Amino acid sequence: MEAQEAENVCGIRQSGVWLPRGASLNLFEASNKLLKAHEGLTCLWNARIASLEESHGKWNLLNEAKETILTADKVVVAIAMESKALMSTLGIRLPLKPVRGQLSIFSIKPNTAWVNKLPKVGISGDGYCLPAEQLEDGSYRWMVGSSFDEGEDDLGSRDSSDAFNREQAQGLVDFSEGDPRDLLKAGDFVGVRCVAGDRLPIIGKLVQRPGIFLATALGSRGILWSALAAKLITAQLLEDDFALLARFGFAADLVAALAPARFFAGALAAPSALGALASNSKPIFPSAPKAR
Ligand SMILES: Cc1cc2nc3c(=O)[nH]c(=O)nc-3n(C[C@H](O)[C@H](O)[C@H](O)COP(=O)(O)OP(=O)(O)OC[C@H]3O[C@@H](n4cnc5c(N)ncnc54)[C@H](O)[C@@H]3O)c2cc1C
Repeated sequence: MEAQEAENVCGIRQSGVWLPRGASLNLFEASNKLLKAHEGLTCLWNARIASLEESHGKWNLLNEAKETILTADKVVVAIAMESKALMSTLGIRLPLKPVRGQLSIFSIKPNTAWVNKLPKVGISGDGYCLPAEQLEDGSYRWMVGSSFDEGEDDLGSRDSSDAFNREQAQGLVDFSEGDPRDLLKAGDFVGVRCVAGDRLPIIGKLVQRPGIFLATALGSRGILWSALAAKLITAQLLEDDFALLARFGFAADLVAALAPARFFAGALAAPSALGALASNSKPIFPSAPKAR
């Protein structure tokens, strides 16, 4: 959209790409819906798997006390950073590293200049934000993210991350003259992203350990990559043929670029063309936004 049209639709006078169904997903609601009672689904909540062990062609899933709590023919390991420790129990070293991220929740008083600049929609650019929400007392609540602290996994809140998000907020709504002090801290969320050495997710079967599948290193793009992982791993798990994968749009080079095998036997020495193009933290969009 051109700036004028964007102002009418979003309240922000900046040109950009408009996705009417984009922006945000309530993960709590989405997960509840996906995990609702189903005859083929058994949920074992609050059960931490500490190690994996092969026994007579099957996989045992063991708890901290080294007791087998499940046995399965096929196991999908989808536990972000924790995949590193779990896979090490099988002698597999995954090149994963943490990237800390802090989202800030700001409160804005109704009499400040920011009020006229607050967006009605989610925006992604240098950072991202949700639509501002007016509360009963007339003030606004606005969530802006996020910091990108490579190699760090500290879940404590940091003032420096809020300051960084205030700067991103100015850029997102094109309001460099806005006083950052008017974005009052009302809360935050700190999490850790899990990224692989080459910034692509690790999705697919682990040929070195038949029966084990990985869906990890989703980085800052968990919502997108997990949808792709679900299709790819389901097809591999059910041993669908490659023609079916191709029908889903999985070209051989895409499957190879995501495959765990790329980290073994010197595969990294020859990164795929796709690996060079795609990235978890630097997606290829026309405006090259740096949403984190
Ligand atoms: C500040 C911040 C903002 C982000 N914003 C976005 C965004 O806007 N869009 C987006 O797409 N992504 C975003 N992300 C990234 C997104 O959160 C991740 O990509 C996504 O959560 C990764 O999903 P996952 O299932 O791999 O891991 P997780 O969501 O971490 O889930 C792993 C689960 O496994 C469980 N677990 C761990 N170890 C074990 C074990 N040993 N046994 C059993 N269970 C275990 C954990 O308790 C957890 O429930 C953001 C991340 C951060 C930190």
